[in-house]
Amino acid sequence: MRFLTFLARRFIAGETVEQAITAVKQLNGSGMSATLDILGENVTSQEMAIRTADSYIKILQTIAKTGIDSNISLKLTQMGLDISDQFCFDNVSRILDKATELDIFSRIDMEGSDYTERTLQLVYRWHEKYKNIGTVIQSYLYRSENDIKELNKRKIRVRLCKGAYKEPGSVAFQSKDEVNDNYTKLTNLLLKDGVYPAIASHDGAMIQAALEASKTYDKGKDDFEFQLLYGVNRSAQRELTDHDYRVRIYTPFGSHWLPYFTRRLRERKENVLFIAKHFFKD
Ligand SMILES: Cc1cc2nc3c(=O)[nH]c(=O)nc-3n(C[C@H](O)[C@H](O)[C@H](O)COP(=O)(O)OP(=O)(O)OC[C@H]3O[C@@H](n4cnc5c(N)ncnc54)[C@H](O)[C@@H]3O)c2cc1C
Repeated sequence: MRFLTFLARRFIAGETVEQAITAVKQLNGSGMSATLDILGENVTSQEMAIRTADSYIKILQTIAKTGIDSNISLKLTQMGLDISDQFCFDNVSRILDKATELDIFSRIDMEGSDYTERTLQLVYRWHEKYKNIGTVIQSYLYRSENDIKELNKRKIRVRLCKGAYKEPGSVAFQSKDEVNDNYTKLTNLLLKDGVYPAIASHDGAMIQAALEASKTYDKGKDDFEFQLLYGVNRSAQRELTDHDYRVRIYTPFGSHWLPYFTRRLRERKENVLFIAKHFFKD
């Protein structure tokens, strides 16, 4: 377990708020912004969900107090979505009240496809009251093109990713080529009609497609941002920053890191090797 904890540190900024803030300060010092994520998901007790929301409120206060360049990302199953939509709505609204007061953007992460519709419906409800909120769309889902069109229409900010969960062929493309083709198509929709889109990928081909789309739709470097995960493809993080693109690093922290860490290893066999090979190099 100690070895696992050691390996996880490549992808996780630490277990405490202090460690996470230190990591964000380092990123900021390298010209990158951050989005802080408290690790955890599928919370089934109200008490735990409320406590996690309280931790997010404290994070918001810390961001404001320290002046670090970071916003927040959160998962609805961590906020009580498995308890009820209304409970989750009220719990997250407390965070959004504070985020609005402090003028900090909040992003609702996207989880497995069983939650997609409910997540979007909640995001639409919140967006009626809180403008500084966005969400995530996964290019592996068939439904995503329609969802992006709706989000663009509502002027809700989207982070586009490929998708990290195991999904059946009834709802999701199964081949890498189809997921990538859809990613490029959705990138174009976002750069054409979206509001400050976030292109979240470590894949050079997806990054290149976004750069081309930005030229097609005459978007400047400040009209969109790239997002990458903490510790993943750090050379791309540096290269984009060096070329003056906006780069935001998704920076997870906390003690419940195992599911997140496992997803990182599962989605890329090479990540296991990669850790072994590049741990000290990249
Ligand atoms: C900021 C951010 C937020 C995210 N939020 C969500 C979310 O809310 N919901 C969700 O389901 N998923 C989320 N994800 C995860 C995402 O869906 C993918 O599972 C994950 O990013 C891997 O896909 P990829 O686009 O990086 O490319 P992959 O298909 O994994 O990799 C393609 C290529 O990228 C390059 N590459 C990948 N990793 C490395 C590496 N470690 N070093 C060097 N090169 C590498 C290689 O060239 C590789 O062949 C998020 C990802 C990011 C970056």
